[in-house]
Amino acid sequence: MNEITLLTEADDRARRYTESIPGRRVFPDAAALQALAAFNEPLPTRGYAAQDVLRLLDDTGSPATVVSNGPRYFGFVVGAALPAAAAAERLMLAWDQCASSFDNSPVAATLERVAAGWVLEALDLPRESAVGFGTSATACTLSCLAAARRVLLARQGWDFDNDGLAGSPEVKVVVSELAHITVKKALRLLGFGMSKIIVAPVNHHAQVDPERLPPLDDMTILCLQAGEVNTGEFDRFDTLIPRAKAAGAWVHVDAAFGMWARASSHAELTQGIEAADSWTTDAHKWLNTPYDCAMAICRDSEALAAAMNSDAVYLSGARDAQKNLTLEFSRRARGIPVWAALRTLGREGVASLVDQHCALARRIAEGLQQAGFEILNRVVLNQVLVRARTDAHTVAIREAVQASGEAWFGPTIWQGRPAFRISVSSWRTTEQDADALVQLLIETAKRG
Ligand SMILES: *Cc1c(COP(=O)(O)O)cnc(C)c1O
Repeated sequence: MNEITLLTEADDRARRYTESIPGRRVFPDAAALQALAAFNEPLPTRGYAAQDVLRLLDDTGSPATVVSNGPRYFGFVVGAALPAAAAAERLMLAWDQCASSFDNSPVAATLERVAAGWVLEALDLPRESAVGFGTSATACTLSCLAAARRVLLARQGWDFDNDGLAGSPEVKVVVSELAHITVKKALRLLGFGMSKIIVAPVNHHAQVDPERLPPLDDMTILCLQAGEVNTGEFDRFDTLIPRAKAAGAWVHVDAAFGMWARASSHAELTQGIEAADSWTTDAHKWLNTPYDCAMAICRDSEALAAAMNSDAVYLSGARDAQKNLTLEFSRRARGIPVWAALRTLGREGVASLVDQHCALARRIAEGLQQAGFEILNRVVLNQVLVRARTDAHTVAIREAVQASGEAWFGPTIWQGRPAFRISVSSWRTTEQDADALVQLLIETAKRG
């Protein structure tokens, strides 16, 4: 079979999958999960035909997908894939660019530069910032924190690149009590040591409490957050960041999904965030690009370019080449789906995507509250934190909804007790989907 016939078949199968999204179970049923055993075959000695590989992938794989690219998936903040961004990815596969620098891919370098500028504009962050398009908020946070530490050490006259950490002045890290696990992972990988991390206590709205902010100085990295995963709450940037900056600290903000509120009518939640030194945000969550795609944004572009530098002697160096702003050397041009998403949405489209999700979250919260569920957060964003009459009931309802295949959301523990967390982040989710979720929960609760 020739390449074009094969690609046509792949496109047909992808199209049929996409068409079937509205009718699919949101989480696979037991039969689909059992069928995954078909993949457990020995490594073939002589390979199979490509068409056979594609057929197995679709026939056995597609039924076992989680339909997060659909309207009724409310788990975590996974987001769906905008058609324009998904289509751009399809074409990029044909290009197969190694998008490390202009010389490797002029088109990728050009589009990622444009996308970087648009992102800074849409999010109203300092226009001089460097933007590295990486795989995840995890990886991008690691890049930003590596840059932060290197700068703080350099200010003390310490050459981190040459002399490493042994014997260096100590860099302290202060993180929110509710910091995302991946911020802690990045810190752990960078050698900060979990027992050395200083925890900033939060108030009852999950925000770092300004009254109890640990002491900061010019050898401290303060990690704040925009969009706490359970509540969707934002730290008080306008209060905290000026204090941190006055002390000479570096401020990093984990804004994996919450950053996009800044492009919407909810921008006031992010007030003061622009004064930080670095920010992480995902495109694969709330901007609804396909996985995986995130951004490391650093006000001092030199700081990020120096920390992540990978100019080799055989390469022509450019400070803003993506290989000098991300962990990866060889990489896909993750900025291209961002460009495609922003070009089709425009400013207004980004704002209405976010506004629509926030309105749907409030609608769900109101519906559930009227039906007797307890809503545990203020629903300032797209997250609804819910509890039923008893802990056992909360768990049973969540499990029953997950098993139904009608919708999916995940569990959490909030203030020591089970809860569930409903997140609206798919461009496909409508008012009907929100109402159907509320109805499903009401009926499930009656039965349980
Ligand atoms: C999802 C998330 C992360 C991690 O993002 P990845 O892109 O999955 O690495 C970090 N912080 C917050 C608040 C998140 O929601």
